[in-house]
Amino acid sequence: MAMESPSPYRGYVEHDGVLHCEGVPLPAIAEAVGTPVYVYSAAMLRAAARRMKAALDGLDDPLIAYAVKANPNPAVLHVLAQEGLGADIVSIGEYAHAVDAGMAKDHILFSGVGKTREEMEKALTGGLLQFNIESIEEAHDLSAVATAMGKTAPVGLRINPDVVAGTHEKISTGQADTKFGIPGEQAMEAFRTARALPGLDVTGVTIHIGSQLTSLDPLETAFTRLGEVIRALRHDGCDLSLADLGGGLGVDYGPDQPDPPSVEAYAAMVKRVTRDWDIRLAFEPGRSISGEAGVLLARVIRIKPGAKAPWLIVDAAMNDLMRPALYDAYHHIVPVEPRGEPASYNVVGPVCETGDTFARRRIMQRVEPGDLVAFRTVGAYGAAMSNGYNSRPLAPEVLVDGDRWAQVRQRVDLAEKSAMPLPDWLEN
Ligand SMILES: *Cc1c(COP(=O)(O)O)cnc(C)c1O
Repeated sequence: MAMESPSPYRGYVEHDGVLHCEGVPLPAIAEAVGTPVYVYSAAMLRAAARRMKAALDGLDDPLIAYAVKANPNPAVLHVLAQEGLGADIVSIGEYAHAVDAGMAKDHILFSGVGKTREEMEKALTGGLLQFNIESIEEAHDLSAVATAMGKTAPVGLRINPDVVAGTHEKISTGQADTKFGIPGEQAMEAFRTARALPGLDVTGVTIHIGSQLTSLDPLETAFTRLGEVIRALRHDGCDLSLADLGGGLGVDYGPDQPDPPSVEAYAAMVKRVTRDWDIRLAFEPGRSISGEAGVLLARVIRIKPGAKAPWLIVDAAMNDLMRPALYDAYHHIVPVEPRGEPASYNVVGPVCETGDTFARRRIMQRVEPGDLVAFRTVGAYGAAMSNGYNSRPLAPEVLVDGDRWAQVRQRVDLAEKSAMPLPDWLEN
């Protein structure tokens, strides 16, 4: 029986009734490392990076700065660095990850509304392409930090274009009433203020309207508005060299889920809208690079009868994969060794919350206790968001590359006693 696989990469395919990641049967990984475990396909990471590079071909020196927050695993970053990708980072920890992975410093963009002075100092010392500044207050802080160091900080100002992204509210970032960016109508004033600050070199504009976008329309509207801002700023004497268009392109989460536009369609739209901008473009894709490359392997603990459907209790939980609890997100769930008959389940984890529900009345293939299941399309915002709720360890991570595989994160025991010392007055 053929199993669907995220075309066109075919990183996860069934051979002889067993789901493989590239050349490696998934049960071999589960047996060696235990479950739950995240597995990533290096071939799919490379394919996604190459596909985007190919789609952007024809633009003048575009920068693809992978959004590290989507999946910061060092092995994943190494694969992407080898493909020539840079990094969009949101903390100094991510800066260190990106540099350690071999990403060029002049391919690093620093985003986020809450960069601390300490983070600014460290990034300025290490070097980067541009700070993406989200408020005038932040511009003042950065200028002060840079001046005190005898440096000039390269900055782009993030414009909030006030568009509705059409995705889940918690991952929409481009409407007026979100914490992100400088409102479009204040852009001119903000640029004048920033340009007058002694510690800043204002070189760019940036925008990011949300994540898992399944229509190009809001992106096109936002980019069109950004184009008007660029024209107005240049008219005002501002010398701009970089327009950073952010990330947000959605991925295909499975049957009956909204089909995202292809990266080729996205690139064609970008080329059309930015045709006469005469500026270097940067992109910050996260999900569309690493999302489809990952699965979360879990084992069925037991099946409990339910009022509407049986409860399929697996050993992965909301702490391992938060997206369903956080965003009501859909993840396709497939048995690793399919039995070939359909069944309906409520798929849940062991955590003591009703929110620990991955799917309700999901029609999938019948499984038995002890069977392995794979949650698909978890290579972005999966392990990255995991936590230790219910004193559960962080799941290990594995990178597969052809017939080879390696564990690239240990199972992290957050309940480890040495990490939580008792004050001596409480010791018995
Ligand atoms: C999260 C984020 C991204 C990546 O978004 P995806 O939807 O994963 O492509 C890019 N830029 C910024 C500023 C972000 O916050």
